[in-house]
Amino acid sequence: MVVGEVAEGVDLLVVGGGPGGYSAALRAAQLGRSVMLVDRLGEAGVGGVCLQVGCIPSKAMIEVAEAKHRATSLREAGLQVEQAQVDLAQFQTWKDAKVAGLTSAVVGLLRRALVEVVAGDFRFTRPGSGVVQSLDDRPPRHVQYTDVILATGSRPLELPGLPRDGVGVLDSTDALALARLPASVAVVGGGYIGLELGTALAKLGSRVTIVEALDRLLPGVDAALLRPVRQRLKALGVNVLLEHRVQSFEDGRLTATSQGQAVELAVEQVVVAIGRMPNTDGLGLHKIGLTPGPTGLIEVGKDRLAAPHVAAIGDITAGPALAHKATAEAEVAAEALCGLPVAFDPATIPAVVFSDPEIAIAGLSPDEAKAQGMDVAVGRLPLGASGRAATMDAADGFTQVVVDRATDAVVGVQIVGPHASELIAEGVLAIEMAASPQDLVGSIHPHPTLSEMLPDAVRGLLHRPAGATVPTAAAVGAP
Ligand code: NAD
Repeated sequence: MVVGEVAEGVDLLVVGGGPGGYSAALRAAQLGRSVMLVDRLGEAGVGGVCLQVGCIPSKAMIEVAEAKHRATSLREAGLQVEQAQVDLAQFQTWKDAKVAGLTSAVVGLLRRALVEVVAGDFRFTRPGSGVVQSLDDRPPRHVQYTDVILATGSRPLELPGLPRDGVGVLDSTDALALARLPASVAVVGGGYIGLELGTALAKLGSRVTIVEALDRLLPGVDAALLRPVRQRLKALGVNVLLEHRVQSFEDGRLTATSQGQAVELAVEQVVVAIGRMPNTDGLGLHKIGLTPGPTGLIEVGKDRLAAPHVAAIGDITAGPALAHKATAEAEVAAEALCGLPVAFDPATIPAVVFSDPEIAIAGLSPDEAKAQGMDVAVGRLPLGASGRAATMDAADGFTQVVVDRATDAVVGVQIVGPHASELIAEGVLAIEMAASPQDLVGSIHPHPTLSEMLPDAVRGLLHRPAGATVPTAAAVGAP
């Protein structure tokens, strides 16, 4: 601090108001700490990328796109809708109201917990001190903290040669804010965002091409889980270009290279979704002796501490960049800084792709379990065996349960199908509690529901007849 600057004392400082940051602030306040939460946008930024421009807006768009698509896809069942249309401008107003409602709910929680929310960018000036610089002309606020939790999240990676301009070249935030549907769009990147946005835009009525540099979509996700999604993309008319590396976009022409050849594509707009990078570069970490790794991540211990009195959580630490990971880490970080003996040690962090059908993963795939030396049994039930799925006209997908024979415990669950995002939670619980196949079968599931698929997937492993689902060869335990 320079002589003349007055620093205010802060007991526990949280930097970043996303799901990680606000959860940490609430837990710390509950544990009796006096908390200041700094977010670039102040109360308007509470909820972070996830609530303001990510998870929530994208699920809203996916929901509306699916409703439009479904309205015209059940003709065989007698549903007659001449033409379903989505007014995107109206959608944006509706979505913004939902986001505003959720934001004010979180702001209300913070206010009730007496967390002071301050607008501005925080950076360290030396150990124990930092400065909050607001985006407007307000003077900087110097703070001296006892403890700090960093939860600054991540931002989209830009493609050199394809800088975002918000008009022709969009990032995911721009795409989710579209008030007019482009006739054609190329989505660069076939990862989580590429698949989710590409599918939604296709259902809304755009001609969509997904351009992926690697030889497959969703790298890191078991290929078997992807098959039903590839089929649906095809049915929706989504063009998928694999092994295409995008170079530039000029005058409505996207240029990519594939096996040394230049490929051109005429599209109205391009959405770049090639991954995200952690927001650690502007924090002045060197002032407190911390050096982020080569990709910008901060190394932390199981207690989420990067240094004494400094915790880091969420997208700026190793592991999947998912809101629920950040929220879980937030509690650990807050409790650790309050002296509680805690560790972030989940049996699994579930992952969901809101594709069509949805993909949800918890724990180990069969191959991952084998690679860990386990003697693996796999129970698998195709969606076609489910009566409830039949009533939804859904047949593409399956539920798979991976069991470690030595311990008779469920170590992995993979679900592809409608509502997989909701159904996976039972798989997470089973893995956390080391449930056995018998535990699943012995827990009565309501009929007719998709939830029956989890116990019925392991009935074959127990040499039990099929449950409420229809017995099929595939249901008696795939190898
Ligand atoms: P991603 O890492 O999931 O996918 C990026 C894809 O872009 C990769 O397949 C990569 O090979 C490809 N790529 C990279 N450079 C390319 C190029 N020049 N040309 C063509 N393809 C290229 O990243 P994302 O989709 O941007 O999502 C970022 C993160 O956000 C995810 O990792 C995830 O953690 C999170 N997210 C989660 C959800 C969810 O939980 N449902 C949804 C959206 C985003």
